[in-house]
Amino acid sequence: MRLILLGPPGAGKGTQAQRLVEKHGIVQLSTGDMLRTAVAAGTPVGQRAKAIMDRGDLVPDDVMIEIIAERIGRPDTARGFILDGFPRTVDQAEALDRLLEERGLALDGIVEIVVDHGILRDRILGRAKETGGARADDTEATVTKRLDVYRAQTAPVADHYGRAGVLKQVDGMGTVEEVAARIDDSLHAGTDA
Ligand code: AMP
Repeated sequence: MRLILLGPPGAGKGTQAQRLVEKHGIVQLSTGDMLRTAVAAGTPVGQRAKAIMDRGDLVPDDVMIEIIAERIGRPDTARGFILDGFPRTVDQAEALDRLLEERGLALDGIVEIVVDHGILRDRILGRAKETGGARADDTEATVTKRLDVYRAQTAPVADHYGRAGVLKQVDGMGTVEEVAARIDDSLHAGTDA
């Protein structure tokens, strides 16, 4: 099973992705986690990405596409994968379309977790407090920037898949279990958009 999970920062993508990983025996490909690992290891990509991530901007498309092209070719993706945090721009989505087509791979679902933007700032800053600010980019200024970047650059990605008629939208308000049930239902149903 190959899935894409879309949604703004704080929508609960990471939590839902982990659950789908266990349920379907697939791997979670979180580009944010990959970049944080690269930053911690001090690789050339990590060194380039650090300042960009700290200010809440997006790492350039060519870097991200190269990372994903390499990652979805590894053997552990044989049973499938769930993309969490990619694609983040329409250019990334178009590059992914081409990449999957070249490799003869189809997507089984593109799910957007829809959450009212008004509550996201508080959710993310609440998460930062709980985890003691474990993420360097969970500061007030950066969160505002990440939400602006989402609206400007990533929201159009959902439109890209909506136009193709393959997008499933689920309400992201409610408990983790409630949202999980909606995602499962959406994966069994037809498309919404
Ligand atoms: P995330 O953990 O998905 O919220 O990602 C954390 C940060 O990593 C983002 O704010 C971006 O700076 C960067 N990042 C993650 N995924 C991407 C992507 N697909 N394209 C560009 N930048 C990304």
